[in-house]
Amino acid sequence: MSQPLGLLADVVPFSWVDGPGNRFAVFLQGCNLDCLVCHNPHTMPLQTPLARSVTVAELVDEVRPQAPYLSGVTVSGGEATLQAPFVAAWFDALREDPATAHLTRFVDSNGCADDEVWDLLLPRTEGVMLDLKALDLGTHLELTGSSNFPVLRSLDRLALAHKLAEVRLLIVPGRNDSEETLRRTGAYVAARAPGVPVRVIGFRPHGVRAAARSIPEPTPEERAHYGAWVAESVGADLVTVV
Ligand code: SF4
Repeated sequence: MSQPLGLLADVVPFSWVDGPGNRFAVFLQGCNLDCLVCHNPHTMPLQTPLARSVTVAELVDEVRPQAPYLSGVTVSGGEATLQAPFVAAWFDALREDPATAHLTRFVDSNGCADDEVWDLLLPRTEGVMLDLKALDLGTHLELTGSSNFPVLRSLDRLALAHKLAEVRLLIVPGRNDSEETLRRTGAYVAARAPGVPVRVIGFRPHGVRAAARSIPEPTPEERAHYGAWVAESVGADLVTVV
């Protein structure tokens, strides 16, 4: 049977910020959200001459020389789950190759994926790092152009399957950074995904589109407050602030 092709925006052979340890990170092209504060807007369109097409075997070949020095691989984006058949085939190939079988396989996702996608990926991944852009529907619509219902559904499914490695909250001043919102968001995550680490990420303007450049970057003190409000329910030991 023919293997699906992957459409790549970028590859980072050694990354310390895309999951646990040292990881080979693949940024897949195309996204199903339209985030105001996207740092990589060039990864959003599915059709672009800037993307690189690869086979599963070619991408395994790229990992193999680095494999002795890696903890694992991570697929990110864009939105990695839009290319779920390719991701599944690549994860299978990595698991079957003796040189790469030791690597953990993580997915970085915005959560806009249905059951069919998770049916395919959950048996093949050790964990999913899930973005929750906003708990409130109106704020999520404003920040991403889409409802957060699929994201909240994914959060529940991943938590139940014990595959939710981390919840990531991107905090945008003036949009989703109020004390009340963050306390409530922390309480929601703690109730639905107890024991799951939460990364609180303060907005940074690098790479964003013109419409978001006037949004201020939170100060270190404001970031600390964000983390403390979320930690009230989640637990300080499970919250990282960056
Ligand atoms: S989900 Fe990520 S890649 Fe997609 S638009 Fe939002 S920030 Fe950009």
